[in-house]
Amino acid sequence: MTMSALRSSFIDDPTSPTLTAARFDRELQQAAETRQQQLDGLPRAQTDEVTRAQREALNQVLREIAAARKRLVEGTFGSCTGCAQSIPVERLEVRPWSATCISCARK
Ligand SMILES: [Zn+2]
Repeated sequence: MTMSALRSSFIDDPTSPTLTAARFDRELQQAAETRQQQLDGLPRAQTDEVTRAQREALNQVLREIAAARKRLVEGTFGSCTGCAQSIPVERLEVRPWSATCISCARK
């Protein structure tokens, strides 16, 4: 078995919380890299409303991703920062940097 095959079978193991954390960490890292590239790709000279709004939205997600990675390290990842309930895994699959459950997000 090659190293990469071994690693992917590890990461896809849903039974271990530690390995799931490793998987989310990797997803968060990739999401941050994608956002950073989009941010770097925005025209710097452009100061129009649309570009400013795009830049602000990307920076906001980057801050949320950084906070989520901090929660992974601290061991609080997956708990709602509003009510401390578990965030449904389906929500985390779609948006791994979610800090709150759906009902707290609506408040
Ligand atoms: Zn909540």
